[in-house]
Amino acid sequence: EKIQVNDLIESVVERYGRKICMELDAEDSTAIVDRQHLANVLRNLLDNALKYTPENPRIIIATQRLNNTLVVNVRDNGIGIAEEEQKKIFDNFYRVPNNTSNVKGFGLGLSYVQQIARAHHWNLELTSQPGVGSEFKITIPAKSAN
Ligand code: ATP
Ligand code: MG
Repeated sequence: EKIQVNDLIESVVERYGRKICMELDAEDSTAIVDRQHLANVLRNLLDNALKYTPENPRIIIATQRLNNTLVVNVRDNGIGIAEEEQKKIFDNFYRVPNNTSNVKGFGLGLSYVQQIARAHHWNLELTSQPGVGSEFKITIPAKSAN
């Protein structure tokens, strides 16, 4: 399905009130993607960004066009994720122990995100530093199918 990812992001972000900032710099955000799957992925990342940013949240979702890809970024200034935890958080039911936040969860959101990304050949990258914040980057091949 050919969609404008910027439009999808706007409709997802709308439900969060004013808590999320948008920097939709991709002038052409056309991509052939499963709208529902991408929306679910973004909601999981935004929910996490909010859950794991207990103080003065600055949560940003951004798009950029890079060659033949569309990059979608979700970043926060939250508690961050230690290097040695960064691979594990994509596992089913894994949650970082004593991550100082008392928020509840099953540890399933990111494993869903990773499954969807793999199934659609989206590249998923995490950059994070404890005490500074986290950034999840999804690179979607803008022209290829699904
Ligand atoms: P669920 O999404 O199933 O409700 P969850 O949020 O705990 O529960 P995941 O979304 O899979 O599960 O995330 C796994 C773990 O990774 C989290 O428990 C948390 O420790 C860590 N994590 C995820 N996103 C962030 C983030 N933006 N900042 C800091 N830690 C994070
Ligand atoms: Mg989650």
